[in-house]
Amino acid sequence: MKLALLCRNPKLYSHRRLVEAAEERGHSMDVIDHLRCLIDISSGQSKLVYKSEELPLYDAVIPRIGASVTFYGTAVLRQLEVMGVYPVNESVAITRSRDKLRSLQLLSKRGIGLPRTIFAHKTNDPSEVIERAGGAPVVIKLIEGTQGIGVMLSETDRAAESIIEAFGGVDTNILIQEFIAEAGGEDVRCLVIDGKVIATMLRKGKEGEFRSNLHRGGSAKSIKISPAERAAAIGSAKAMGLNVCGVDLLRSSRGPVVMEVNSSPGLEGIENATGIDVAGKIIDFIEKSAKPGKTTTRGK
Ligand code: ADP
Ligand code: GLU
Repeated sequence: MKLALLCRNPKLYSHRRLVEAAEERGHSMDVIDHLRCLIDISSGQSKLVYKSEELPLYDAVIPRIGASVTFYGTAVLRQLEVMGVYPVNESVAITRSRDKLRSLQLLSKRGIGLPRTIFAHKTNDPSEVIERAGGAPVVIKLIEGTQGIGVMLSETDRAAESIIEAFGGVDTNILIQEFIAEAGGEDVRCLVIDGKVIATMLRKGKEGEFRSNLHRGGSAKSIKISPAERAAAIGSAKAMGLNVCGVDLLRSSRGPVVMEVNSSPGLEGIENATGIDVAGKIIDFIEKSAKPGKTTTRGK
């Protein structure tokens, strides 16, 4: 097959592994920097131009679009979808999952466990918002944060009020969330491919850190998950419409609660912790699913 990988940095572990896994299976994979693509649209014709050349029709594309370039990256992916290229994750699903509020709304509808979460306009009274979230300690999050940046723990109502007011002052949207203290700075990353959990790891934040992100210095090890955790991970992937994703959940006293669903899960931590060839499984999924023109959104 003729495959494309949309990413900014071909040297990253995850991207090197995807190219390697594709080549091992006899496919070719072009690495394309989405920010260097031009979108050329005219009636009945959609083209994508990369380094002054029109790109050929690929059988499938693996999008690895960073959170800071979601708008441009998903526009390029949508162009490929309109051209009839099969996307491992559809542009609409990626956009959906990048918005933490929208994600929680969709997960809630399916009855998936979640931390209680409040979203309010800055004209609302911060003390009411904090009270609804169960009172301090509360977690305050930027709606489009990633890698743990933009996630804050506030130990007191007073501090939470100041943080809410500060973000209101600069017109930044935030979520206020119940703090799941019993998770103890650990979370469970479930790697879901095609509705199945294929690898799981337990991540622990470094000493004194409530955020378990590996980017924040956390460590990881392989673990077994419970049937309830498996069901929450699979249900979350389905709610987002993502074929390949990382579902992060916390072990709360009322069962698993989902934190977020990542459409470009990092492969290094999970492959090293579990010894599972996740990149290979993504290529296997493409072999099974990619029929050119099969995207269901067709860029809509
Ligand atoms: P990001 O998208 O930046 O990774 P998350 O919402 O996943 O942000 O939060 C990062 C980490 O912070 C989580 O993996 C978890 O360890 C911790 N965390 C986030 N929200 C809560 C919460 N409500 N209670 C306890 N810990 C939390
Ligand atoms: N590279 C991923 C992202 O920031 C995060 C890595 C991960 O936590 O899986 O979108």
